[in-house]
Amino acid sequence: MTTSYKLLVLPGDGIGPEVMSEVLKVASCIEDLSSVNFEIEQDEIGGAAYDKYGTPLSEETLKKAKNSHAVLLGAVGGSKWDNLDFSLKPEQGLLRIRKELDLYANLRPALCFESMVGASSLKPELVSGLDIMIVRELTGGVYFGEPRGIKELSDGTRQGTNTQTYNTNEIRRVARIAFELAQKRNKKVTSCEKSNVMESGILWREEVEHVHQNEFKDLELSHMYADNCAMQLVRNPKQFDVIVTDNLFGDILSDEAAMLTGSLGMLPSASLGAIDENNFRKSLYEPVHGSAPDISGQGIANPIASILSFAMCLKYSFGMDHESDLINNSVNKVLSEGFKTADLIGDDDKNLSTEEMGNQIIKVIKGLG
Ligand code: NAD
Repeated sequence: MTTSYKLLVLPGDGIGPEVMSEVLKVASCIEDLSSVNFEIEQDEIGGAAYDKYGTPLSEETLKKAKNSHAVLLGAVGGSKWDNLDFSLKPEQGLLRIRKELDLYANLRPALCFESMVGASSLKPELVSGLDIMIVRELTGGVYFGEPRGIKELSDGTRQGTNTQTYNTNEIRRVARIAFELAQKRNKKVTSCEKSNVMESGILWREEVEHVHQNEFKDLELSHMYADNCAMQLVRNPKQFDVIVTDNLFGDILSDEAAMLTGSLGMLPSASLGAIDENNFRKSLYEPVHGSAPDISGQGIANPIASILSFAMCLKYSFGMDHESDLINNSVNKVLSEGFKTADLIGDDDKNLSTEEMGNQIIKVIKGLG
């Protein structure tokens, strides 16, 4: 029996459509190898949506996103839309879709492909075999807390304010996602905060502990101050399995961890929300990189981050672990055979265009699948 999944594809701006074309080819290849059918609908987001609908995210597109099993996004942004009012800028489309779908957990893997060990800024023995998952809380904390703003004081100086707030529910739901991931991995969660200096950090630690004691006692939980975690990530990154942390610390720690493994063109991400009435978790998958206006239109962008984001979609939205691993293994094989896009190229490598990289990965998927 064929299972059908509804995918909303939003290629966006710049290199977004270029890399997304390769994802769609990979999706079609996975359909051929499995009993799954993807009902794909395409629409616009960001600058492309502004050009077509006069807004970076139309109500109609949002409705489609809410009705799909998962959303695949390319990237948004570009100088063409620099002079628009702030509320109409391409990036607002992205922020809005994340908010409307209530995507509260951002997953960023730091996975070092054997073929890319040499590209890390750390010694090969520190990153070889590295496989960390960082879970960042995405919809709360200091980026959203009130009061906020800049005000003038009576002495003529100015004061800037942002507020870190978290409540029980916000902490427990993201902790649960981290534990569920660890359950399928190496069963170890490290929770990071600054409970030595922040009350919100004390609450964070207590609530993560509560979820652990009541629901996931069989897993290992440790707590670490976020500044120590930043240090441990470059000292001995392989000590970690799943790291869960708040919005601000997660922003920084996930960038740090991701760059242990090489280039921006290789980094996927997933954003997950609550499980809906049909038992589907709201989800959006996108590369970490932006629309790369400096190389857009040249056919040289690396499609791997987007293809790996699709692999995350197969695993975390559809439970297709085998197909997801197949994509990851194929990417590793292609890179280890010296096929690289311009951003990764070394002396003895073969330089592939975006399209050639997509084709090469598909060729290997078919061979291994
Ligand atoms: P960027 O990620 O677009 O590019 C940074 C550098 O990395 C550039 O030199 C680019 O050529 C290179 N690069 C990025 N992705 C690549 C790929 N797949 N293959 C090869 N090289 C790649 O970041 P930026 O230049 O700071 O931002 C450009 C635009 O993208 C801005 O409008 C920004 O707001 C937007 N942006 C969007 C997102 C998103 O959609 N999630 C994220 C970051 C930036």
